[in-house]
Order: sequence, then structure tokens, then C-alpha cells
Amino acid sequence: MIPSLLPTYNRTPMSVDHGQGSWLVMADGRRFLDMGAGIAVNALGHAHPALTEALTEQAGKLWHVSNLYQIPQQQALADRLVEETFADTVFFTNSGTEACELAVKMARKYWFEKGEDRMRILAFEGSFHGRSSAGIAAAGSEKMTHGFGPLLPGFTHLPWGDHDALEAAIKEPDIGAVLIEPVQGEGGIRPLPDQCLKGLRDLCYQHGVLLILDEVQCGVGRTGRLFAHEWAGITPDIMMVAKGIGGGFPLGAVLATENAASGMTAGTHGSTYGGNPLACAVGLKIMEIIADPAFLEDVRRKSGHLRQALEGLIAAHPGIFEEVRGSGLMLGLKCRVPNTDVLARAYDEDLLIVPAADNVLRILPALNIEEAEMTEAVARLDRAASAVIAAAA
Ligand SMILES: *Cc1c(COP(=O)(O)O)cnc(C)c1O
Repeated sequence: MIPSLLPTYNRTPMSVDHGQGSWLVMADGRRFLDMGAGIAVNALGHAHPALTEALTEQAGKLWHVSNLYQIPQQQALADRLVEETFADTVFFTNSGTEACELAVKMARKYWFEKGEDRMRILAFEGSFHGRSSAGIAAAGSEKMTHGFGPLLPGFTHLPWGDHDALEAAIKEPDIGAVLIEPVQGEGGIRPLPDQCLKGLRDLCYQHGVLLILDEVQCGVGRTGRLFAHEWAGITPDIMMVAKGIGGGFPLGAVLATENAASGMTAGTHGSTYGGNPLACAVGLKIMEIIADPAFLEDVRRKSGHLRQALEGLIAAHPGIFEEVRGSGLMLGLKCRVPNTDVLARAYDEDLLIVPAADNVLRILPALNIEEAEMTEAVARLDRAASAVIAAAA
């Protein structure tokens, strides 16, 4: 018999009662150190007092009003994002995959209005852009598309990190945009080196192609900059944001330059809930805290310490771990044994980490995690690795 919850997830049989900062407390009182943060969503941990206050204060005033009217919190958050980034304009969604839908529509409408047949979009193997029809077609992985055809046409997938393939493909006259994650998340924390992102930006300028960045996972302070592309000193034409921007409340956004957004006139797109007062009140508070240069500096400092500790862990368990990669507090530990073995032992140590493709374990703590908690997490991971070795002996 089918369960009452559609069984699309293999869930761990743990039932979370409440959270506090980087800790999750189960119904039976067991306390887990959360190094997954809802897969990079709980950017400020669980039950952050300032976010709870922003949400409850708004909840007492107004939950929802249609986008037919002015929503001051939405306007304020758009102004803040425009002030802090390359963008001239912002549209709010409820999720990352909805941001993908709009990013694709925006790029295609841009070329339609120019009267040019440039509807094809270059994307990359190993990428993830969400589970909507555009999202799975954009990522193109067999795992997500199998059985769901006919797929949205117009995507061409290139190998990750193959500059020659990119250079050849981008010359094709029907290419209108390139869609890429500056740091692949689900793909196994695979960062695009700064030089490659710069090279890609140059190629896009050279061929008049729009650059769409998916910063749903790597954005909003995750890499130690407000947005990951800042490390390479480039700017995109269109950017998808979600996850951390809502800190756990559903919120996403598409940011764009005036030029890239020029096709999106009144009536061309909409959303019932996108940019609702509750989400935007939380998003504003998140931006106030995370866009502070001192906060981002702190993320970079903690990243350095965590990385160093993880390097030590690899040195101590060279048969278990291969390398650490990523940036900021978006780190990946590539394993030599099945990553799920280590994950299961970490769970025994009351430590939550997140698996990814390429046999990687993702370490995505709350950005405001304390130093002592990071040290504790590495100690637990060390015991987990020892347990994997002991079990194999
Ligand atoms: C999570 C994720 C998405 C999809 O976001 P949803 O809110 O789950 O729709 C898209 N792109 C990237 C890079 C992601 O990590």
C-alpha cells in the first residue's frame, strides 16, 4: 500500500522536534550537531531570535496580499538586493526551481524581443537546478529526467570544466545563454575555478550570450562573499537565488540587469505567493545580518579553521578521506569508502552531514556556527571514520 506521504524520499527514521542554532533536538531528546543546515537553507541556524522576531511580528500584521498591490517588505528587499549586487531588478519566487523557470523564460524572452533565434541554453553535466520541468531539463541528468519526457527542449549539456568544449559550443548561432552553478552543490561541491568563471564571462561577452548563474546553494554568504561569483570579480546577467535567502522560510529570487530583464514586461510573469510579506520580512533581516562585511569576514575566518581541521582529519584517515574542496562554509569531503558508510557512522555520533554526488560528504553548517561547534563536529567525524575502519577490520 502506498504510504500517505508520497514515497519520493528515503527518509532517515528520525523525527525532529525543535532546533536551536546548530543543534537539532529529536522527539526522544537526542541532540544532533547539524552540519547540513537544511542543505544550506538555515543560513543562521535554527530558531534565530532576530528571524523569529521578524517573522512573528509580520505574522501579527499581514500574511498575504496579492501582487496586484504594493508590498513594502518586498520592495525593501528588492532595493536591498539591488544595492548589494550587480542587479538592477528582482523578481521573488518561493523556491530555487521557480527561480530557474523564470531565469530560462527571461533569457528566451530577451532573444525573442530582439527577433533572434537564440533559444538554446548551454548547461553542464553534474549540475542541479531543481525539480520542475525546466529544472530537470536544464540539469539533464538521467537520474532526474528518466520517465518524465518529453522534456523541455533547448538545452545542451557540456562536460564540467572542459573549456575547449565550451568554446566550440558557445559559437553556435542559436546559443542565447549559459546556465551554471559557480560551485556545484548536489554535483559534489565542485567549484569552478575563478579563472574559468572569468573565461566563461569573457566568452559570453564575446558572443553576446547571457550568463545565468545558479547561486541557489552557493549564494547568500555561503562561500564567504555575499555571492560566490564575487570571488572571480565578474558579474552575471541573470542570477537565481533561494535557500539561504529565506533562512528556512520559503523564498527565492531572480536578480537581473536591466538589459537582460528587458523582455519581462507587465503580464509576462507572475506568482501568487512569490514575495509575500512573511518571506520578505525574514529575507530583509537575513540580508541585514549576512550582507554585513564583518559577518562575511567571520565566515571566511571560520572557513579557514574548518578547512585546516578537515585537512588534519584526512591526514589521520587517508584510507577514508581523499580531499577537501569548496569554499567558505560550503565544503566537500571526497571519500575513498562509500560516503554513505561514513554518513551512517556520523549519525551514530549524533552528527548530521549531507551526501552529494561524486562520493562526497557535504559540510554546510549554519554560517553563524561557533568555533567550538566546528571543533566538536570534526571530533565526531574523526570518531565516525575510526568506526568505519573498525567495522572493516
Ligand atoms: C536546491 C537547489 C535548487 C532547487 O531549489 P528548490 O528550492 O529545491 O526548488 C536549484 N539549484 C541549486 C544549485 C540548488 O542547490
